[in-house]
Parts: sequence; structure tokens; C-alpha cells
Amino acid sequence: MTHAATFTASAFDSSAWHATCRNILKTVGQCSGGIEHTYLSNIGFNVERAVADLPEDHRTAALAIAKNEYQYHTADEIKEWEKQSLAQGLCKHGLGMDHCPFGCGG
Ligand SMILES: [Zn+2]
Repeated sequence: MTHAATFTASAFDSSAWHATCRNILKTVGQCSGGIEHTYLSNIGFNVERAVADLPEDHRTAALAIAKNEYQYHTADEIKEWEKQSLAQGLCKHGLGMDHCPFGCGG
């Protein structure tokens, strides 16, 4: 008959998670060459790696924060992003075919 049980010792520490996300964005921002596709992919990779270290029942909340506030995109969303780039006549990295450092222009 008590509600105390809802608050467990392992409650999600959102401020720690915000700090982790800020760190990820900072690091990723420095090593993505200003290429949005690389930036988003690196955020996705790093966020998912950090989330894997969290207790399972905290992951949904953590991913929601990453998505809403830290530009987290899932692999499927990045694929969708690639499709939109191709539809605009760009390579899947969102760059002009002749300018892509990943060699999309052949
Ligand atoms: Zn490309």
C-alpha cells in the first residue's frame, strides 16, 4: 500500500546521462570533418555503446533524451537520411558526387 517502491536505488541518473551525451557530441564534433553523415553516424555509434553500459530498464529513457536533445539517429534513420540525399542527387553521405571523400563519385 505504499508508492515508495517506485523509487528504487537504481533510478535513472539523467544528469549523468546528459553529461555523457554532451561529451559524445563534443568528441564527435571534433572528428567528423564537418560531414553531417559522419557526425550522425558517429553519434549513433557512441550513444549506442554508452547505452549498452546502462542497466536495461534505463535504456529507453536514455535513448529518448539522446534523440530529443543530442541528435541521436538510429541506423534505420540514417539509412532514411541517405535515401533523401540520393533523392536530391547527392551521394549517400549528403555530398556532391564529385566531392565525396569516401569515393562515391568513383
Ligand atoms: Zn559519399
